Amino acid sequence: MHGLMMSMPLQISSLLRHADRYHGDTQIVSRTVEGGIHRYTYSEAHRRARQLANALGALGVRPADRIGTLAWNGFRHFEIYYATSGSAAICHTINPRLFPEQIVYIVNHAADQYVFFDLTFLKLVEGIAPHCKGVRGWVAMTDKAHMPDSTLDLLCYEDLINGHSDDYTWPEFDENTASSLCYTSGTTGNPKGVLYSHRSTILHAYAAGLPDALNLAARDVVMPVVPMFHANAWSLPYACPLAGCKMVFPGAALDGASVYELFETEKVTMSAGVPTVWLGLLQHVEQHDLRFSTFRRTVIGGSACPPAMIRTFEESYDVQVLHAWGMTEMSPLGTVCTFKSQQANLDREAQYALQAKQGRPIYGVDMKIVDDDGKELPWDGKAFGDLLVRGPWITAEYLGGEGGNPLREDGEGRKWFPTGDVATIDRDGFMQITDRSKDVIKSGGEWISSIDLENTAMAHPAVKEAAVIGVVHPKWDERPLLIVVKKPGAALAREELLQFFQGKVAKWWLPDDVVFVDELPHTATGKVLKTKLREDYKAHKLPGT
Ligand code: AMP
Repeated sequence: MHGLMMSMPLQISSLLRHADRYHGDTQIVSRTVEGGIHRYTYSEAHRRARQLANALGALGVRPADRIGTLAWNGFRHFEIYYATSGSAAICHTINPRLFPEQIVYIVNHAADQYVFFDLTFLKLVEGIAPHCKGVRGWVAMTDKAHMPDSTLDLLCYEDLINGHSDDYTWPEFDENTASSLCYTSGTTGNPKGVLYSHRSTILHAYAAGLPDALNLAARDVVMPVVPMFHANAWSLPYACPLAGCKMVFPGAALDGASVYELFETEKVTMSAGVPTVWLGLLQHVEQHDLRFSTFRRTVIGGSACPPAMIRTFEESYDVQVLHAWGMTEMSPLGTVCTFKSQQANLDREAQYALQAKQGRPIYGVDMKIVDDDGKELPWDGKAFGDLLVRGPWITAEYLGGEGGNPLREDGEGRKWFPTGDVATIDRDGFMQITDRSKDVIKSGGEWISSIDLENTAMAHPAVKEAAVIGVVHPKWDERPLLIVVKKPGAALAREELLQFFQGKVAKWWLPDDVVFVDELPHTATGKVLKTKLREDYKAHKLPGT
C-alpha cells in the first residue's frame, strides 16, 4: 500500500525557486575577476538563471548534455549551476588547477558541449581548445566591455543571456536524473567522473544544513571559500538557497587579506574551506592584530585540520571550528565533529582532542571500519582499518564504468563504498582518519599514522606546515621522515623539533629525520602531494642507516 502523500520529484530548480519566493531580497555578493564587487538578490539570480536556461536551449543544449565550467566562486557560476541542472542538462565543474592534459582528458571524457570560463582562464582555454574537438563553444563569463582578444571565436556570457527572456518554467522530471558531474583529482591514474543526481543533491543539501552539520539559518551570511569546482563547494550553492542565507563569493582572491576584507564588509558569519586557506587568513589577522566582527564558525575539511589551528580559531578569535570529512564521491559530506551533551561537559583539553577527530556521520551516511579480510573492527577508538561508507548521496559507480565496480558487498548483501581512508571509530561514533591507505607508514609490521605526526609538528609555534612520509629503512621496512615549512622568520633546529614530540607520541613513532623546506607541493584541491614527496625523498638516507 502506498502512502497518500503528494509525489514531487526532488529537483535542484526548486531550491532557487524557493529562495526567490521566500528570500527574494536576500543578497548574493561576488568579488569579480574583472575587478569590483557585484551585488544582487536571489530573485535576480533566479531571473537570470531562467534567461540562461533559454539561452542554453537556443544553443541546442538538450537534457543530459554536459556543460563544463572553469570558474571561481561567483554569481555567474551560481547561475550556471541552476540553469544547467534545472533544465535537465548536467553541470560539469572542472578544477582549473589540474594540469592542462588532465583537463583535456576530463572535457573529452565528459563530452562537454560548451565550456563556460572566467577570464582568468583564457590562456588555459586557448591552450586546450584545439584538443577538445567535441566542444561546440567556449563562453567567456563576462560582459561585452570586458571581452578579451582571443585566438578563439568566443561567446560572451552577458550577450548570450541578454538576448533571451526570463519566461521559462523549470521542467519536471525524474529525481534520479543526473544533475552534475565532478571528477576526482586522484593523485594517480586518470581522474574519474562522479555523477550526482537531483535526488542525491537535494538530500545532501538538507543534511548539510542540519544543526550538527553546517548549521545553516536564514540569518547566516555564508562565504564558500571552498571552490565550486571542488565537490560542489561542499553543498553551499544548494544548502544556502535552501536555508535562505546571504551568500558571499570570494572570486579568485583567496589570500588572507582579501578574504578578511570581505568577511568584514559583508558581515560574514560562517565559512568553509581547506586548512591551507585558513593558514593564510590566520597569518594575516595575526600579523595585523585584527579581530573578526561577525565571523563565528568555520567548516574545515579536505585534509586533516591541525589541532593547533582549531585552538587558535577558538581561543584567540572565538570562531567555532567544525572539523568535517568527506570526499567528491560522497557529494561530499560524511562526518562533522560536533559535541553530544556528554562531551559538552568535558574539560577544554579533552574537547580539543575530540575536535581533532573528523566526527560523527550525518544521518544518511553509514560507516564502518574493516580489516584486510573485510571483518568489521571494534569501535574502541584504537583499532584502525579501511573506512567503508554507504548512503543515498554516495557514488555507486564512476561515469563510463571507469575503474570497474568500486563497491564491496558484505555478508548481508549491503553494498559499501571503500573510501581509501584508514580510520578509527570510538564508542561514541566519532571517526578519526589516521591516513590515506596509500600514505600509512609501515614500520616493523605496525602502522604509524602520518596525520598524527603532522598534527604534533604543527602544534609547534615555529611550524607553518608539516608532512610525514615513510622512507625505506633496512631493518623496519619504512620509518617516518618529517618535512617541515617554518613560519616566516622563525628559528627551529632539528633536535628541538624532535624533542617537542617526546611524550606526545609513542617512542617508536618518533620521526627518524627532519628536513626543512621552503614549501610543500599541493594537489589541485589543496592536499599535500605525498606521491611527489615520496618520489623526491625516495633516496633520502635516514641517520644510522
Ligand atoms: P576529495 O575528493 O578531493 O574531496 O578528497 C577526499 C579525501 O580527502 C578523503 O578521502 C580524505 O583522504 C581527505 N580528507 C577530506 N577531509 C578530511 C579531513 N577532515 N581529515 C583528513 N582527511 C580528509
